[in-house]
Amino acid sequence: MSYLIRNVSVLGGAPVDLVVRDGVIVDSADGTEEVMDGTGLIALPGLVDLHTHLREPGREDAETVLTGSRAAALGGYTAVCAMANTNPVADTAGVVEQVWRLGREAGLVDVQPIGAVTVGLGGEKLAELGAMADSAAAVRIFSDDGMCVHDPRLMRRALEYVKAFDGVIAQHAEEPRLTQGAQMHEGDVSARLGLTGWPSVAEEAIIARDVLLAAHTGARLHVCHVSTAGSVEVIRQAKARGVRVTAEVTPHHLLLTDEAVGGSIEGTAPYDPVFKVNPPLRTAEDVEALRSGLVDGTIDVVATDHAPHAAQDKECEWAYARPGMLGLETALPIVLHTVGDALGWDGIADRMSRTPARIAGLDEHGHTPVPGSPATFTLIDPQARFTVDPAALASLSANTPYAGMELPGKVVATFLRGKRTALDGKAAA
Ligand SMILES: [Zn+2]
Repeated sequence: MSYLIRNVSVLGGAPVDLVVRDGVIVDSADGTEEVMDGTGLIALPGLVDLHTHLREPGREDAETVLTGSRAAALGGYTAVCAMANTNPVADTAGVVEQVWRLGREAGLVDVQPIGAVTVGLGGEKLAELGAMADSAAAVRIFSDDGMCVHDPRLMRRALEYVKAFDGVIAQHAEEPRLTQGAQMHEGDVSARLGLTGWPSVAEEAIIARDVLLAAHTGARLHVCHVSTAGSVEVIRQAKARGVRVTAEVTPHHLLLTDEAVGGSIEGTAPYDPVFKVNPPLRTAEDVEALRSGLVDGTIDVVATDHAPHAAQDKECEWAYARPGMLGLETALPIVLHTVGDALGWDGIADRMSRTPARIAGLDEHGHTPVPGSPATFTLIDPQARFTVDPAALASLSANTPYAGMELPGKVVATFLRGKRTALDGKAAA
């Protein structure tokens, strides 16, 4: 299929016509194209998510590669990196190839598996990193996300191992001895609610250790879902010293605070498990530091940490609820809402597409849609506003913290190598 998109603004520039043919953007139309009106729309390179939980294999009742791919395409994504904490864990070439193949079959986004660092996320023995790297899935990012690679000797060996093929270790930074029994951010709100706290220093201490290990080994470290002002400061200092460290922030950490757990958001009650997430929602000062860290480039990317959960795992008592919230279909609107003006369209393209594509080694992604580039992009209506309805989301799960919120920026269409994967709220498969 060929497309002619008239009068569309690429990254906020003057309106142009975009012609899509044979998977690429070409110079001129030949009259055989389907015509779309792009007036008022912004074209961005297809978004790339470094941190998505697809739940397949093992928890297909919460999400599958197909349903997660639909949610991603509808959110403007053309590639997602699938976290390894599935069941079985993605710690062998066999499992990462299975996830990769399911992604190809769905055909809506490129699903790039992340491999586990340690066998079974057990933190004791390195997984088959080389076999996963050499597999059809060509794994480049390794993470025990959900768990911290806590043993410093193992972390050092993992960094040294992946350096050989320019891989990266993506760390869930959480000193487990400091977060035993933790239920939310440790602070005034946790004291008021009587919940055990997850102190900021549990994240900051691991990041500080890991940037020193990255400096020592010369390997690449990526810090998952940075959540505190102190973490931003540690990463800023490490970058100034030339350490090869990159970092991500989630949309929810750019918007929500621990006050939400106390029922501060209209229509919610205290202890609503939809706000339970790991790392936890922090304070307004942390949110401010994360926003400025993202804008000044200390934090390199926005990653969703899309974490679907079946109703029985989420709609229960706070203490028993699984941590995590949906992210793929609301990430861009939340980014526009929180830091859109400060970043501008080019900054958004950078934090949500180019830089994550570069970190993951996804060469076909992150290109500005101009003639000669892959036709892998998304079209946004920045004026449109919509109200988030959990039941209307494409994800199999409904654990969104934004239910009822009105947000700016609707994804109108998404294209992957010339295939239209989403249009007007409907995915192509
Ligand atoms: Zn994590």
